[in-house]
Amino acid sequence: MPVFDQTYQTLKEHLQQTAIFSSIEELLGWDERTLLPAQAGSYRADQMTVLAGLIHQRRTAPAVGEWLDTLESSLSTSHPADSPEAAEVREARRDYDRESKIPQKLVEELAKTSVLAQQAWAEARAQDNFAEFAPWLEKTLDLKRDQADALGYTDDPYDVLLDEFEPGETAANLRQVLSRLRDELAPLVAEIVATGKQAPVELLQRDYSIDKQKSFARFAAKSTGFDFDCGRIDLTVHPFCATLGPKDCRITTRYEENAFSSGFFSVLHEAGHGIYEQGLPDQEFGMPLGTATSLGIHESQSRLWENFVGRSFAFWEYFFPKLQLEFASTTRDIALDDFFFAINDVRPSLIRVEADEATYNLHILIRFELEQALLNQDLSVADLPGAWNEKYSEFLGVRPPDDAQGCLQDIHWSGGAIGYFPTYSLGNLYAAQLFESANSDLGALQDQFRRGEFGTLREWLRDKVHQHGRRYPAKQLVQDVCGEPLSHEPLIRHLRSKLQPLYGLA
Ligand code: ZN
Repeated sequence: MPVFDQTYQTLKEHLQQTAIFSSIEELLGWDERTLLPAQAGSYRADQMTVLAGLIHQRRTAPAVGEWLDTLESSLSTSHPADSPEAAEVREARRDYDRESKIPQKLVEELAKTSVLAQQAWAEARAQDNFAEFAPWLEKTLDLKRDQADALGYTDDPYDVLLDEFEPGETAANLRQVLSRLRDELAPLVAEIVATGKQAPVELLQRDYSIDKQKSFARFAAKSTGFDFDCGRIDLTVHPFCATLGPKDCRITTRYEENAFSSGFFSVLHEAGHGIYEQGLPDQEFGMPLGTATSLGIHESQSRLWENFVGRSFAFWEYFFPKLQLEFASTTRDIALDDFFFAINDVRPSLIRVEADEATYNLHILIRFELEQALLNQDLSVADLPGAWNEKYSEFLGVRPPDDAQGCLQDIHWSGGAIGYFPTYSLGNLYAAQLFESANSDLGALQDQFRRGEFGTLREWLRDKVHQHGRRYPAKQLVQDVCGEPLSHEPLIRHLRSKLQPLYGLA
């Protein structure tokens, strides 16, 4: 066997064995967030710490570096630059370098601080006391600066932190695209507000039995293509999607009797993440090509099913009669047009996770600007609450009455996730670009949705996005599939075409 093939097999075996440990870690994490008894938390933390150490050791073993050296030295003669093997080696190198460049002591310090800072954050939010969280945010930012230094960067430490979630993306590019988005989005939202028209959201706040919500959401997730023979839905407080093995994808949600849309759309959202995970090649599980290419692309898949499909009129032409059968007494007097308006309500608000499709990105823009300023020390932690409130007034025309509903609302910074927020907006932008391309490739998608057919779109996504794993970085993938780089235009077109008629504009 040639040296390349032999070493490649050795590396693959090592990485796939490591994936067995990390999938067990995922299982423990899933269990922790769905079923774990209250008193069992500390032993679970011990179990996960041991596994995390073991996984880190395996990923940074010097042998991995040697195998990669060997593979790289023979790669150019044995495989073309665009081959799957070349991509696998490139991405395995990226992972190895990222994990081994950060000193063990810093890894431990980051892990410990994130646990303690999250506790302090939860307490501070409950008491609406920013001062309690401030020193932990300072410490987290210090450590993230150290991490950026350890990883190395050319222009901006933010880039190398962003790169963890969105490989190859830069703050400069995002600033440009997101400011164009804002220039068109802010006036659109202002126009909508100025109409004074309010969607009949009270229709969604009637009594929707939780048992029926469960079966209805399950039916919708199955219709869009989530495979229940290789996955489950369970209950949790903060919905998420976790992959525990090649044929084991778990999505989670929560239901409230008087909030139909929050449970239903969170299932469609998480099922969208799940369909991506289920579309990755099983035989590459644990390898880069068996892994999602970026968080932005991951979020594009959830947003596409949630918003571009699930909040479309055609989708409800199929599902609304079924909803009326299932929740007969609750929905008997509701007209489809009113229901459709209610699920597409736009109104500026304080809380990101409750934001609608249009204003959501303004919440992200605020966080993106503030976290860059914090990291670069252009903004002090002490001045964060004031700066936050200013931005909310400026971008959304609302002002938080307290920090719990202001800069303390999100968990991300306390967990050390700096550079994560923009991936939500990237998800919305990429979803719009991919959906527009799917429509032009496939044509008449709305006619299919109207008949409850989602397979053509799902297979298109599988073919263009899912099956490749990390073979193509997000930027290249979108350029190849859509024929254009990251752009704000398809999202603006989508929002205008849906919202302007609903609000009687243009
Ligand atoms: Zn998501």
